[in-house]
Amino acid sequence: MHKLWRHMGDEALGVEVREFSRLHVAPVADEIDETDRYPSELTTATALKGWNSLTLPKEYGGQGASLVEQLVIFEELSVGSAALGISLITNFQCQKVVQWFGSETLKQRFLPRYREGLCTSFSLTEPGRGSDIRSVDTVAHRVDGGWELNGEKAFITSGSAADAMIMLVQAPGGIALFEVPTDVPGATKVETRDAETFGLRNGPHVNLVLDKVRLPVDSLIGEEGKGLKQAMVTLSSSRVLAAGISLGIARAAFDQALLWAHERKLFGQTVLDFQGIQWYFAEAAAKIDAARALVYQAAADVEAGRDIQRSSSEAKLFASRVATEVADRAIQICGAHGTRVSSPFGRYFRDAKAYELAGGSSEVLKNTIAKSLHKSVSQTAG
Ligand SMILES: Cc1cc2nc3c(=O)[nH]c(=O)nc-3n(C[C@H](O)[C@H](O)[C@H](O)COP(=O)(O)OP(=O)(O)OC[C@H]3O[C@@H](n4cnc5c(N)ncnc54)[C@H](O)[C@@H]3O)c2cc1C
Repeated sequence: MHKLWRHMGDEALGVEVREFSRLHVAPVADEIDETDRYPSELTTATALKGWNSLTLPKEYGGQGASLVEQLVIFEELSVGSAALGISLITNFQCQKVVQWFGSETLKQRFLPRYREGLCTSFSLTEPGRGSDIRSVDTVAHRVDGGWELNGEKAFITSGSAADAMIMLVQAPGGIALFEVPTDVPGATKVETRDAETFGLRNGPHVNLVLDKVRLPVDSLIGEEGKGLKQAMVTLSSSRVLAAGISLGIARAAFDQALLWAHERKLFGQTVLDFQGIQWYFAEAAAKIDAARALVYQAAADVEAGRDIQRSSSEAKLFASRVATEVADRAIQICGAHGTRVSSPFGRYFRDAKAYELAGGSSEVLKNTIAKSLHKSVSQTAG
């Protein structure tokens, strides 16, 4: 089945990750989803292989690899389990914030720990704030020896396992990003039924309540007033990887449906022999191939600094939609089998749909693309 999809990016890396995903990730994917648990055995195994810190410079324990190589890892692992993909994406987001904007002491203290399995979350959302991240209710005040933080962050992926979070906070000089260890006095993780989602289940998305949390001076990342810009730059990069997770989901749904249609016999032939069903597969294959081309191009664009916002938003917008469409079609092809709780198709559909909202909703991404088009035409028209 895997021969259906040619390797993109570094082929040797693709072969290695594809095999790891098939042998170690796919077999536990349904159980992770069903129990909504953080897959720490898999995140530790990928950390030891250096796959969770691939793009970090060598002096911080990384391999100085490109975003395209990181994308290969996200796509292939997410064919096995999107829950593992999102467990890795929250680490990627936090390490990029620290690498790009943190002080040297913070980099030394923080980044080498990823190789040992450090788990971190990127915390922007608040109970009363969703897409509009320009409004932040969580506040930081200066105190002797550092900062005091108060407020509550919400919907935090990987939050149940996170050792630390990178958090968007309103500081006196404007919105800023802070590094917040989760075991610091005054910080409490809260898991409610509201924190459970039907898709992308890697443990409940926790809220973190901050009550007079004291942090050292270098917990502030970069400068006050720069937090929004820093978060947007980071999201632009991670959106390409989110799109890679959607590619993985689409491929998994397609592969499983094709296998089933090849084996299921009806009216003296296989389901795959029906022309109507073949057309479903042909359409889905074309969409997945188109999405892969777009997403890998976006990774190259982001790496080269070309039209980053538009490229990464188009990649996530398109790939997340394709994944939902392919998962939907896969269920249809497989008939009642597609609806079985014991089959993986419900998981594919739920994971795919959730990624049309998480990490920037499709509507917000369309706004970003339109803004870029508007800017281009204004410059062209003069
Ligand atoms: C599975 C999952 C994981 C998540 N993980 C994290 C995480 O790790 N960290 C974190 O900080 N947050 C996380 N979130 C929260 C996520 O970032 C928000 O759900 C997302 O930003 C949208 O916010 P919202 O759900 O409150 O929707 P709202 O902002 O309330 O939007 C409601 C609707 O209005 C649309 N809309 C909003 N603004 C506009 C606009 N300007 N123009 C047109 N339409 C608009 C939206 O697209 C949506 O359809 C996660 C969410 C999910 C589902």
